[in-house]
Amino acid sequence: MTMSTDTLELIKFIREVFGASGIVPLHEPFFCGNEKKYLNDCIDSTFVSSVGKYVTQFEEMVAEYTGARYAVATVNGTAALHIALLIAGVKGGDEVITQPLSFIATCNAISYCGARPIFIDVDLDNLGMSPGSLRRFLEEETIREGQAIINKKSGKKISSVVPMHTFGHPCRINEIKKICDEFSLPLIEDAAESLGSFIGNKHSGLFGLAGALSFNGNKIMTTGGGGMIITDDESLARRAKHLTTTAKVPHKYEFAHDEVGYNYRMPNLNAALGCAQVELLPKFLSSKRDLAARYSQYFRDRDQEFIDEPDYARSNFWLNAISLKNKSEMKYFLEELNNSGIQSRPIWQLMPDLPMFDVCQVFDGIRNARMMADRVINLPSSVRVC
Ligand SMILES: *Cc1c(COP(=O)(O)O)cnc(C)c1O
Repeated sequence: MTMSTDTLELIKFIREVFGASGIVPLHEPFFCGNEKKYLNDCIDSTFVSSVGKYVTQFEEMVAEYTGARYAVATVNGTAALHIALLIAGVKGGDEVITQPLSFIATCNAISYCGARPIFIDVDLDNLGMSPGSLRRFLEEETIREGQAIINKKSGKKISSVVPMHTFGHPCRINEIKKICDEFSLPLIEDAAESLGSFIGNKHSGLFGLAGALSFNGNKIMTTGGGGMIITDDESLARRAKHLTTTAKVPHKYEFAHDEVGYNYRMPNLNAALGCAQVELLPKFLSSKRDLAARYSQYFRDRDQEFIDEPDYARSNFWLNAISLKNKSEMKYFLEELNNSGIQSRPIWQLMPDLPMFDVCQVFDGIRNARMMADRVINLPSSVRVC
């Protein structure tokens, strides 16, 4: 089969934008600030592991940038989400409402708590949890028993709601928060992809009890591997710190632990890298915004639809995405782009289609999620500074 003009033009455009003749990666990290300086300093200090000044400094920098009162650094974003769910009160045997369209980490973290996900639909424009679907599920499928919201089908307690801000585009979090309040359900945001995304003046991840960030190598900024819990609640932050540091009771020399904790603390070495990267974040964000504007302009009068910033929010434009006509066109684009050295990836498979989650409840056919899982691909999105 020969290439269609659609894919040929797109390949030409992407090569022009990135000025690259070899492989154009989907997303590369960039290190053009104080990374080596802080890392060298960290190594010279010998405090490379679980003690050291960079962890606290990095937590303070992220708290200041996001406007969170408290930030607790972790080994990765999945661990941050796991702890956020635990401090929200998610327990074994509970159920947690989330979206079927997400990276596997969301459902893994729910499973680590011994809880089971329930899948409700996403909105078509932002690919995040649909407040309409959430309200209908809660009104039609649950009953209140005392303080608890019980799933009529399973008889299980629903102990939290976990939306995700897909590719950095904020979902309708104000509406979701309002519904959670009406039903007295704790809200935990998977904000792993949305560092730098705001709704009004508030950073994503700060609408409910807590939010989880990720600093994996492919995210907007990286610590190698890393994550963070952000929250405005002091006692939750203290509890998160305790659980991520083996639940150790402070003492000059004794080992005392008062519950089963986790070794989830971010090493000082990773935090040193994070301090340098967070200094570059404003630069990364403006480069991302410029790149997205070019994609948006390019797709304006074409058949493929660019997934753009919602009008109610400010996106970090972490990963650019387009929606195609159907599954066969999606396959065609993926083949042609990747064969030409332009890295392009399909959106995730739906969580309830995976063997570990195929027993989980799916509400009302998740039509939007099914449709988008067959249409959306990501395009090269690296920042172009440095
Ligand atoms: C990246 C990511 C996470 C966390 O991933 P880690 O690799 O553990 O840092 C969680 N949820 C979503 C949606 C993500 O994209």
